[in-house]
Amino acid sequence: METHFDLIAIGGGSGGLAVAEKAAAHGARAAVIERHKLGGTCVNVGCVPKKVMWYAANLAEDVRHAPDMGIQASLDGVDWAKLVEGREGFIGGILDYWNGYVAGEGIAHIQGEARFVDDHTLDVNGTRYTAEHIVIATGGRPIVPPVPGHELGITSDGFFALREQPKRVCVVGGGYIGVELAGVMRALGSDVTVVALESRVLETFDPIVSETVAFNMTQDGIDMHLPFAVGSLERRDDGIAVIGREQQALTGFDTVLWAVGRRPNTETLNLEAAGVEVLPNGVIPTDAFQNTNVAGVYALGDITGRAPLTPVAIAAGRRLADRLFNDQPNRRLDYENIPTVVFAHPPAGTVGLTEAQARESGQKVTIYQTKFQPMRYALNEKGPRTAMKLVCVGDEERVVGIHMVGDGVDEMLQGFAVAVKLGATKTQFDDTVAIHPVSAEELVTLKEPHPED
Ligand SMILES: Cc1cc2nc3c(=O)[nH]c(=O)nc-3n(C[C@H](O)[C@H](O)[C@H](O)COP(=O)(O)OP(=O)(O)OC[C@H]3O[C@@H](n4cnc5c(N)ncnc54)[C@H](O)[C@@H]3O)c2cc1C
Repeated sequence: METHFDLIAIGGGSGGLAVAEKAAAHGARAAVIERHKLGGTCVNVGCVPKKVMWYAANLAEDVRHAPDMGIQASLDGVDWAKLVEGREGFIGGILDYWNGYVAGEGIAHIQGEARFVDDHTLDVNGTRYTAEHIVIATGGRPIVPPVPGHELGITSDGFFALREQPKRVCVVGGGYIGVELAGVMRALGSDVTVVALESRVLETFDPIVSETVAFNMTQDGIDMHLPFAVGSLERRDDGIAVIGREQQALTGFDTVLWAVGRRPNTETLNLEAAGVEVLPNGVIPTDAFQNTNVAGVYALGDITGRAPLTPVAIAAGRRLADRLFNDQPNRRLDYENIPTVVFAHPPAGTVGLTEAQARESGQKVTIYQTKFQPMRYALNEKGPRTAMKLVCVGDEERVVGIHMVGDGVDEMLQGFAVAVKLGATKTQFDDTVAIHPVSAEELVTLKEPHPED
């Protein structure tokens, strides 16, 4: 195999594949080094398997709600093994696609762990590979805190390896992964407890999102303990016990899931050999063009500690390849106004500034918000709560933030994110004729500013 390339991507996940693919499309000789499976976190242990589980969980929820609308249905159980088998088969198809696609596009696929020899040279299993441009896209992995008994818990990677449904599970962590996996397991019938250090789930989101999601989780029967600092895990006769730092004990779990954050994969790269700067938390800092401190070495995706999302890694990779190989010197990703969804039940979606961030900017802030019961749950006694909030700034009321929880917001948000990116004002939202009857119409018919303003 060839050993010199125009570009080598370390990591065959979302970012590495995107930069290599686009570089090859521009005629560059590109290679991807992957130590595990092409597709990386998203395809193997992230977005894709999570979303399959979420769809299954939604179906289970629908079956529970069906009798309220006169549909005679009952949930007789979940065949977890069958669900997982189907999910993994689906992922296998994606992996086949990627393996074929990479080969078909003439991208070299080097299997193994990459280590820097110098700033233009990498070692993989004893073979040296060189390139003008090296892109670090090695992603991250789940953190397990070093408390006594930590090994009794699993992480999100372990969750996707489960071949049996947990019966009683404690999820440690109230970020998006904790919220999502707790929701999936609860909807599929597990008893779920959530503990987290913070006093509310999704702490970095606008409070309307955290509060509404927490309300819905509690209504769904998830036992929430916040704040709760885990001091240790213990194996007892009735299962695993989660012991708080104040010695309070939650007991009887068959599964404990750590969802307390992720750490960038930088330790094994031998970055010192290339002189690449790395922060103590493992993040590789870059400028706005994905340049590291070393010319010809770039970083993108989760490793950069910015907006850890698949489309962000892909967009950064594609733009970098355009800049390096398609004569577009100013091409770069704008990290402002990145929309994101939390696949809770129902989902939450957000783009732009929270109310607090808008107020910090010193501009005049106007808030429009609503909470309502969508027609979907008109005949249900206990439908989940839906909420929407527009954050507007200036006299022209430019919409700089949208925060929503409710059925369909995952699909709804993409189009509204375009409007925010284009700088749309509240008046332009109001001038858009509503679609009726859908939840989304609320966003273009919000009347009075929220009274707190
Ligand atoms: C449970 C979960 C759910 C998620 N859900 C979503 C979602 O719904 N939507 C969304 O947008 N994002 C989601 N994400 C985040 C998304 O998966 C990541 O943002 C994305 O995968 C980052 O891409 P990346 O290219 O930076 O890294 P990765 O996809 O992690 O790829 C890095 C690759 O590098 C390889 N590697 C590491 N070190 C080396 C080395 N030294 N040599 C060779 N190879 C190496 C790894 O094996 C890995 O395959 C989720 C993540 C998790 C964990």
